[in-house]
Amino acid sequence: MLFARFRHNGLEAYGRVEDGRVRPLQGDPFGEHRLLDEAVSLDSVRLLAPVRPGKILAAAVNYPSHVAGSRAMTGMAEAPSAPALFLKPASSVIGPDDAIVLPRGAGRVDYEGELVAVIGRVCRGVGAGDALAHVFGYTCGNDVSARDWQRDDLQWWRAKGSDTFSPIGPFIATGLDPANLELRTRLNGREVQATNTGALIHDVAALVSFASRAMTLEPGDLVFTGTPGETGRLSTGDVVEVEVEGIGVLRNTVAAEEA
Ligand code: MG
Repeated sequence: MLFARFRHNGLEAYGRVEDGRVRPLQGDPFGEHRLLDEAVSLDSVRLLAPVRPGKILAAAVNYPSHVAGSRAMTGMAEAPSAPALFLKPASSVIGPDDAIVLPRGAGRVDYEGELVAVIGRVCRGVGAGDALAHVFGYTCGNDVSARDWQRDDLQWWRAKGSDTFSPIGPFIATGLDPANLELRTRLNGREVQATNTGALIHDVAALVSFASRAMTLEPGDLVFTGTPGETGRLSTGDVVEVEVEGIGVLRNTVAAEEA
């Protein structure tokens, strides 16, 4: 099933997507909810980020193909033996078709196309074998990264956490096998990243289990699973798309910060 959040006639709601239409939910998909009858065409609604997370965890260096290209940022010569997680703030989330804003003075800002897990049930200290039962579904994400700040700051708070640096969407898909999904990133229509999520070094279960040993994960929290291969620079006017099989295409434009 596909779930969305959307705005229509001034109202915001979660909804279930079927046959090009969206049926609003009363409540949220993680808890008690009721499907309402009046479906509206997807074309007539504004899609929002499909969830408003409490917190966002993200994995650094989680594909073998990304180890070499990320060395200057992480200092890691090889794949990490345990998940290398960092936090992104909820305030960095934007939805489909929203603009990624390049902060003044940030220098180089890159796209990072990623599979994102959406937590569905509270978990703390969950084992890898039980972890996926606490995942509600998956969405596409772009872990936008300001490379100069990432290299030079003590922490990645603004390199990874500036406003608009966590585009997610367009939908949350349930029932997917997170270990076998095609992931592609396109910049202005040209494919720039491609992988199967089967290549993840630490899979979704391992990431959720590891994170939950330190902090309680709650419904709506997100786990960005890492980006494959090389990343590239975003410029004003670009259109960047992240597509994950079974979910859809997350499309965002790129804009300069206004003076
Ligand atoms: Mg990333």
